[in-house]
Amino acid sequence: MTGSPKKPDIAPPPLRNDCFALPAGVDWTPVDDALALLRARLRPVTNVQTVPVFEAAGRVLGGEVTALRSNPPQPNTAVDGYGFSGAVAEGSHVLPLVQGRAAAGSPFDGTVPAGQALRVLTGAALPDGVDTVILEEDVTVQDGHIAFRGPLKQGANTRRAGEDVLAGDVALPAGRRLAPADLALLSAVGVSEVPVRSTLRVAVLSTGDELVDPGEAAGVGQIFDANRPMLLSLIKRMGFQPVDMGRVPDDRGALHARLDLAAEKADVILTSGGASAGDEDHVSALLREAGAMQQWRIALKPGRPLALGMWDGAPVFGLPGNPVAAMVCTLIFARPALGLMVGEGWSDPQGFDLPAAFEKRKKPGRREYLRARVRDGQAEVFQSEGSGRISGLSWAEGLVEIEDGERHIKPGDPVRFIPYSSFGL
Ligand code: AMP
Ligand code: MG
Repeated sequence: MTGSPKKPDIAPPPLRNDCFALPAGVDWTPVDDALALLRARLRPVTNVQTVPVFEAAGRVLGGEVTALRSNPPQPNTAVDGYGFSGAVAEGSHVLPLVQGRAAAGSPFDGTVPAGQALRVLTGAALPDGVDTVILEEDVTVQDGHIAFRGPLKQGANTRRAGEDVLAGDVALPAGRRLAPADLALLSAVGVSEVPVRSTLRVAVLSTGDELVDPGEAAGVGQIFDANRPMLLSLIKRMGFQPVDMGRVPDDRGALHARLDLAAEKADVILTSGGASAGDEDHVSALLREAGAMQQWRIALKPGRPLALGMWDGAPVFGLPGNPVAAMVCTLIFARPALGLMVGEGWSDPQGFDLPAAFEKRKKPGRREYLRARVRDGQAEVFQSEGSGRISGLSWAEGLVEIEDGERHIKPGDPVRFIPYSSFGL
């Protein structure tokens, strides 16, 4: 009789005593502690220069900017119509028209006598004797007179001088990242040049023997460098200047030389890969040798480990190699740190609560970021939390942040959604 071969009598390991304990020790750094440390230790490293407003979009203000002129500079009409002096009582009114008109850029340089009216066009400075305007749609014009119905409040349809901004007021604070609307404001208040911070140069470097560049031939065991194109464009979208430092194999000498070059060319260095404590983790090994290394096991998913160190005066963020973790760590840790270093000050990403479109049980002990997007007013998360799922990063339009403690999220429960745009993307 032929039986199956006899299997060795071997049992799986027993359940560990700590199987319900916090994952791997209590020495993990909570996300908020790690952020507080970055915030306390980093300083602006950029200079201030002056640039024309036309070239200032996306730059960071190096000092507060004061309005040189009020907006609006003089009282003016908000509509096309007819201007006169004072409030109008209920009932019908007929006023004689003064010859001439006031238009934007062509003021009327006489005085409008009491009880008379003048044709005025939107944006025109109010001439002497005019403080109130009636809309042209509400008026009949005939034989040099206008007829209309009251009541109308004094000042109706006009804008007061400086009602928006007064000359001498702070128009924009130091540290402001200039948006298109800011350029409109600066121009309106007579500012044509602004002090801005020099751009922060951020070097991006990939590490790993397994990496080849997109477009190169990839042999067995090789993978394409997915981090570098992603990180370089993240840096650019966040308003910093990316410096491509290529990739280096897992070779300590090569990495050393490349870090030297990166510290020359940039203010900050982002590496990916090799940040753990393993045999081929040369980034953390070199930073440790340099004596300025903080190895953080941050209580974060996905993300650990993050190695932080200094190399020739340049802070180094040793990001995890895994692209999902590399992106999350860049958004959560590098972005506010880079903002501080460029002179924007520290800023936390703005999120908002939305009903969950999913169910999830989360253990206590670490903060989690799920790849997420909003559909029909609800936060959806990617079907897989696998940290190798790069397609989920691309599918997502933001992150759902789940607090450090335990949580059982049921559909409809509020969860915090942080859109990618809140990180400046
Ligand atoms: P490491 O942190 O170097 O141990 O890498 C962790 C995982 O991320 C490994 O599976 C690496 O192959 C992968 N990895 C590291 N760098 C990259 C990269 N630039 N692009 C894509 N995957 C990477
Ligand atoms: Mg590696």
